[in-house]
Amino acid sequence: QFLYGGEPIGKQFPALHQSVYGKPLVYFDNAATTQKPYSVIHAISEYYSTINSNIHRGVHHLSQKATDAYEVSRNAVAAFINSRSSSEVIFTKGTTDGINLIADVYGSYAVKEGDSVIISAMEHHSNIVPWQIMCEKRGAVLKVIPMNENGELLMDEFERMLDERVKIVAVTYISNTLGTINPVKRIIELAHANGTPVLIDAAQAVQHVAVDVQDLDCDFLAFSGHKMYGPTGIGILYGKEEWLEKLPPYQGGGDMIKTVTFTGTEYNELPFKYEAGTPHIEGAITLKSAVDFITELGVNEIAAFENGLLQYTTSLVTEIPGIDIIGTAKAKAGALSLSVKGVHPYDVGVLLDKMGIAVRTGHHCTQPVMDFYCIPGTVRLSFAVYNTIEEIDYFISSLKRAINMLV
Ligand code: PMP
Repeated sequence: QFLYGGEPIGKQFPALHQSVYGKPLVYFDNAATTQKPYSVIHAISEYYSTINSNIHRGVHHLSQKATDAYEVSRNAVAAFINSRSSSEVIFTKGTTDGINLIADVYGSYAVKEGDSVIISAMEHHSNIVPWQIMCEKRGAVLKVIPMNENGELLMDEFERMLDERVKIVAVTYISNTLGTINPVKRIIELAHANGTPVLIDAAQAVQHVAVDVQDLDCDFLAFSGHKMYGPTGIGILYGKEEWLEKLPPYQGGGDMIKTVTFTGTEYNELPFKYEAGTPHIEGAITLKSAVDFITELGVNEIAAFENGLLQYTTSLVTEIPGIDIIGTAKAKAGALSLSVKGVHPYDVGVLLDKMGIAVRTGHHCTQPVMDFYCIPGTVRLSFAVYNTIEEIDYFISSLKRAINMLV
């Protein structure tokens, strides 16, 4: 168990302490969204109980307090990912929103007919569809880095794909389905050697591994608050200042302008240029509590602990006949996908649910990955810092029971 103040960390998460169908809840759907610790829940309640008001607008006391808290949170996120400046940190609705933003503004800035965009074979739909929409608009071609049976990207193929027509590379740091940790630093080096910027989908990374945008040297990086113990509806888009300065705005509206007349508008400076309209103020402010939570526990300690859970589960699952692990890359984090021979993943999920275990079944918004393995879906466990070895033991015995009932 991961301990906090000498006690199991799970004590900090009220939602974990409930029964489902009379069984204690075991929550293994963390890649979809994590539960929230008291510190985040209290911060949300505190915000609405004290400083609730609109930001960046009012001269009045509450508005100034809310504005300060909003910017303090931005600074905390900037420190969390080690960005050079907080003006490179944009509050968004989430990973999907951040990727759509870049696909749209970068597409109109740099992508022409006959150009290409490279993604990978294991992308979440939210790192596929925005690029498809953009490519369709611009007459560009979407290219895909292939992977092997283990769920590892074929880097030689990637190198061969890079040419002067490739205008951007967008890849996930960690696969939400396979758990593969991609060699993103190498991908970025190779792309940069080709003069091509890189967007990293870090939705499954920031809660599992230390992410340092300067060390990675990525041009853009997107993630979601709700997968890292924070609120839903808030996320972060990091972008290098040199890019965000020259790219066009995304949405128009309040806050993203300096002056407006009917003949023209002068846009606001970064990061406000990309934050049109009243944002998710409470989400942005309380994202700091999630960042603080991870920082206090230590992301490297969390990574080591979760890796232990992953290894333990993998070794036990391997002993069960009729189960295939989908995704057997050397470097993995977060998620473990299983396929049970002759049984639909949905049926396994329903039975596990009746035993109090929350897993995800289906394609996990990665339909091309399912097509690659010729399976309808997987049963996916995904870990968070509050999961325990006891929960895994219970999962293994429940899984065996479920299989016996189904085959
Ligand atoms: N990318 C990856 C790898 C994900 O796992 C997810 C969420 N499952 C997303 C993108 C999309 O995140 P959101 O729905 O929070 O925008």
